[in-house]
Amino acid sequence: MIYVHFPFCRTFCTYCDFYSVTDKGKEKEYNEALLGEISARKSFLDLMSSSSSDVKTLYVGGGTPSLAGGKFFEIMASLAARYCVGEFTVEVNPDDVTPRLVSLLRECGVNRVSMGVQSFNDVSLRWMNRRHNSAGAIRAYRLLREGGFDNISLDLIFGYDPAPSGTSDEADLLSLWREDLTRIISLEPEHISAYQMGIEAESLLGCRAQRGEYNEPSDELCAAQYEMLQQMLEYAGYCQYEISNFAKKGFRSKHNSAYWERVPYIGLGPGAHSFDGRCRMWNLSDIERYIAYYHYNDHSVLPFESEELDSEDIRVETIMLGLRRCEGMELSVLNDLVSDRESFNRLCSCGALAIEGDRVFIPKERLFVSDSVIREL
Ligand code: SF4
Repeated sequence: MIYVHFPFCRTFCTYCDFYSVTDKGKEKEYNEALLGEISARKSFLDLMSSSSSDVKTLYVGGGTPSLAGGKFFEIMASLAARYCVGEFTVEVNPDDVTPRLVSLLRECGVNRVSMGVQSFNDVSLRWMNRRHNSAGAIRAYRLLREGGFDNISLDLIFGYDPAPSGTSDEADLLSLWREDLTRIISLEPEHISAYQMGIEAESLLGCRAQRGEYNEPSDELCAAQYEMLQQMLEYAGYCQYEISNFAKKGFRSKHNSAYWERVPYIGLGPGAHSFDGRCRMWNLSDIERYIAYYHYNDHSVLPFESEELDSEDIRVETIMLGLRRCEGMELSVLNDLVSDRESFNRLCSCGALAIEGDRVFIPKERLFVSDSVIREL
């Protein structure tokens, strides 16, 4: 599994704290540095491609990869040709989708596109500081379809209030969400991801919240939106397979599913994380350091950090990732990992955990509060 981070965005979205910069003047040096990192970490890449795991995916995220030029995609095509058998995903922003981009992606071998729609409501989109509007998202989706993509994932966001100081009527927010769900279902993408908006300290929204200029909607509203999401998507033929992910039959994301199974992966580019089974390594979110190290060979400052996981880290992570998935985890595995038997029994008896055959999982109606269930374990 390979993840590549393209760390450039044209503008910053209100809620986002992913690492990116708006100065695209550095793209040429970034591409050179990326080639440097690919060559420096060739043995890890080779090791993964020779492993018996059948998860040989390539996921290009960001940032905004759809802003990248031909050279970046040339590098991606050669990475895919060498290491990716199967799912090759690129994230795109609706505003960047043109017939030219669609052809470029097809020529590179991309077979799955993930597009951040977030909402079909123009007021919400402006409040999020997204570059596109609702009509633009639909136009982009159609271009991708006409260009031959038959595996498209669309993202939506719920759990926010676009009115100044968060003063919307919650019934209106619920009906706006119903409209978003109706629109996305009518497009029939193969995969839908829906995330609850959080307030990230480093984001513009985080600053507004700190100044008292933003109030989150109530937990009750977010729970009602989540329930509506589950019901409407299930009725439309989507199967929920993780807290935030829904797919038509045969279209689960192989790349993300492998993360939840703790399959080793390599992340390339500033801010990207890697995992080899015992050790986590992350490139620092600093494009200057990244370029200095991998392009100009200035090895005086390391652009990455790492940590060896101890048995407690592995225990916590296995439970956390396993119970995110609707199918949960093997009961015998969880039994070995649970340190507080009383909590486990209590969660089972109150229905927060369910056991069927040799699997233990959080029932769908409790997934909205899965964090607290997992924390207890
Ligand atoms: S949401 Fe995507 S496009 Fe918006 S700032 Fe974050 S990475 Fe960039």
